[in-house]
Amino acid sequence: MPRDAVPQPVRLSDYRPPDWLVDTVHLDVRLHPTATRILARLAMRPNPEGREGSPIVLDGDELSLKSIALDGTPLAGSAYVTTAGTLTVLAPPQRALTLEIETVVDPSANTKLMGLYRSSGAYCTQCEAEGFRRITYFPDRPDVLAVYTTRIEAEREEAPVLLANGNPVESGAVEGTSRHYAIWHDPWPKPSYLFALVGGRLDRISDHFVTATGKKVELGIYVEPGKTERAGYAMDALKRSMRWDEEVFGCEYDLDVFNIVAVADFNMGAMENKGLNIFNDKYVLASPETATDADYANIEGIIAHEYFHNWTGNRITCRDWFQLCLKEGLTVFRDQEFSSDQRSRPVKRISDVRLLKGHQFPEDAGPLAHPVRPSTYREINNFYTATVYEKGAEVVRMLKTLLGEEGFRAGMDLYFDRHDGDAATVEDFLACFADANGVDLSRFALWYAQSGTPHLAVSGHWDAQARTYRLDVVQTLPPTPGQPEKQSMVIPLALGLVGPDGNDLPMRLDDGTNAERGVLLVTQPRQSFVFRDVAERPVASLNRGFSAPVKLTSDLTTQDLVFLARHDADPFNRFDAAQTIALAHLVEATAARRTGRDLPSPAALVEALGATLSDATLDPAFIAQALSLPSESDVAREIADDVDPDAIHDARQALRRALSAALTPALEGAYDRHAPTGAYAPDAASAGRRALRNACLDLLAAGGTAPGLARALAHFRDADNMTDRFLALSVLAHNAPDAREEALAAFYERFRDDPLVVDKWLALQAQIAEPGTLERVRGLTGHPAFSWGNPNRVRSLVGSFAGANQTQFNRADGAGHDFVADAVLELDGRNPQVAARLLAAFKSWRSLEPGRRASAERALRRVAAKPGLSPDVGDIVSRSLEPA
Ligand SMILES: [Zn+2]
Repeated sequence: MPRDAVPQPVRLSDYRPPDWLVDTVHLDVRLHPTATRILARLAMRPNPEGREGSPIVLDGDELSLKSIALDGTPLAGSAYVTTAGTLTVLAPPQRALTLEIETVVDPSANTKLMGLYRSSGAYCTQCEAEGFRRITYFPDRPDVLAVYTTRIEAEREEAPVLLANGNPVESGAVEGTSRHYAIWHDPWPKPSYLFALVGGRLDRISDHFVTATGKKVELGIYVEPGKTERAGYAMDALKRSMRWDEEVFGCEYDLDVFNIVAVADFNMGAMENKGLNIFNDKYVLASPETATDADYANIEGIIAHEYFHNWTGNRITCRDWFQLCLKEGLTVFRDQEFSSDQRSRPVKRISDVRLLKGHQFPEDAGPLAHPVRPSTYREINNFYTATVYEKGAEVVRMLKTLLGEEGFRAGMDLYFDRHDGDAATVEDFLACFADANGVDLSRFALWYAQSGTPHLAVSGHWDAQARTYRLDVVQTLPPTPGQPEKQSMVIPLALGLVGPDGNDLPMRLDDGTNAERGVLLVTQPRQSFVFRDVAERPVASLNRGFSAPVKLTSDLTTQDLVFLARHDADPFNRFDAAQTIALAHLVEATAARRTGRDLPSPAALVEALGATLSDATLDPAFIAQALSLPSESDVAREIADDVDPDAIHDARQALRRALSAALTPALEGAYDRHAPTGAYAPDAASAGRRALRNACLDLLAAGGTAPGLARALAHFRDADNMTDRFLALSVLAHNAPDAREEALAAFYERFRDDPLVVDKWLALQAQIAEPGTLERVRGLTGHPAFSWGNPNRVRSLVGSFAGANQTQFNRADGAGHDFVADAVLELDGRNPQVAARLLAAFKSWRSLEPGRRASAERALRRVAAKPGLSPDVGDIVSRSLEPA
């Protein structure tokens, strides 16, 4: 079979247990830049739950097989067959046996960055999802759990540091050579996707952690030589994560060492290999001069996320890749909770929901929509999506909302207790919560099976005479690919009834019960809830805290929303009320732009934001979020059909100018009040003050007035940290064409030797909403700082253009679509995973107006027609083009 054929779909319903199990794996890896030799010794036995008399079928990909022996005897050529993807031992004895397999791989030629490869001269691995088969032949599936012992050998000069999973056992010189070795043993059985090794010249920062039961764990973070002073924050975040997981979930670390290695070339954010996490260096390295507050927050969150996988993912892993959300959705939920406890909970919730709406909602509304747990896939690499991660986390959050704090913890405790050491399923997970709480979650499970964002339409009716308030709720579920019909979902709708004085009214339902914890259960297509003893007309604050990931529309008036923006006791809804006003304004203004009508008045939004700006009791980070308008893609998603990105951009710019003009004194006042008082510190409170000051600056400069731009220039010149410097640069780049080039050049000169900062510089230029940007981006692909081989560079330049520049990616002449299609084809031969991610930028193409829709389709068809596409790109393009 040619490697480029679009593979057959894998179906959840076809799952069978493995026929053979692997108890132990002994690896002997002799590192060499172009010919690394791997000797694997696998202790195997037939699985009592597998099919009797089965051959041994091992996965392999781009391996050179040197030898194979069974119980010490080389296998005859007739005893096994290899294909491009497998090695089959045809008639093995049906008993415990040992297979010894020798393979050779070329790490330097591995541009896919899956399996064993080199990054800046260091050897490293990435095995999730199916990379281990690029190191040796193996049953490369997550339900085969084995105990690994790894011996690594290398030239001491080339790779003085040798790391693998588990605990160090021994190390030393290889007698009579310039080589040395290290042996690592991981006592915890694990699937192959969690295997890792590293060899290279790396610097280390060290620390230790004493666990709740008094065990001392050695901690190490390895970075490129000379960069240790930038790893301190990551170490601090790691220690806080370890303590938090003990305190909140009772999860203690279980090895003697925990190591993190930062590498420059990495397809993903980071990887939770047992005891040896490997990170994209973007999520480890930070200093005030090179990292923004957002970078610090990301580092904290991702360090925590990968560490938390030690229990949710590693100790309890996934039975098969359909269950990916079991570890990812759950672990995202856990890292969100961690960050909420370390920082401001409402602000964290607001930014998480922004991310969900910005990335997951469009995915759920387009041709790439899929359930949180898909039932079929052709290329698993394409399912590391916002739906699996972010919506998966929302489903866990809803479970907590339904069961309450204690009920949720009881379910988690039972999950850890019952399934430690297992390869589990979503059903196993839900059964723990059902059993621990004595509830039936079978209908709730639809959240894992049905794709698409549910829609709730809510209307309220106050009866002054009867002193009742009735909420009518209509639930609809849009059709999505492969799911034309849907069942009603179980939706926890948190709400409050806000009285005229701004305080919440008691909520007594007409059956005499109180709405438990302020949550109504929406379970039917149409449902009414009647509250009694409601003496005054309340304003309903709906879906508080974004209790369910739904699109909610209501009959609240603009004045109701202004009222909520001033008074709602729920900070998320206070924020959301103003955003709802802004979004409605932008949708109307976009339509007005296209038809030549007058623009609507922004008075209500000015009132709401003015009140927020002047409320001294509010957290500055919260005010900064409130000042940040819905994005252009938020508006596009709301319009949903016949979208004209230029009209959206113009409407949004006009609104920003109007707000700037109306709020100038308040913005200037807040900017001045939040001037820094001391040296930079990355803590949440300091970051919040910077965020507010920068949000004010951004709006002031949006007016394009001379004082606004002068302020931005001064901010750029005087900045003593990356957060302020980059925000000012961004303001100048977007709003001040005359000052732009000089500022960009100065920034580059200052940071040209720092690739992670150059990434910011590339990304910013790719996002300028002007016709010249495409030529600028094309030019930058030839810049010495850019490389098609480094995923961070590609995502910064081309990814930002495709994903964060609505007007230029969707240029009316189709040149933006063509450029990204060309980039995908250019990349596909080198790194299919990164190419496929880039192509997913077309996910909302069907919602565009006819001209742009046609150009997007032409670009997609051109990609589809290219012979020899990777399975990754082939899968995305074919799903994108499937008839709606
Ligand atoms: Zn993860």
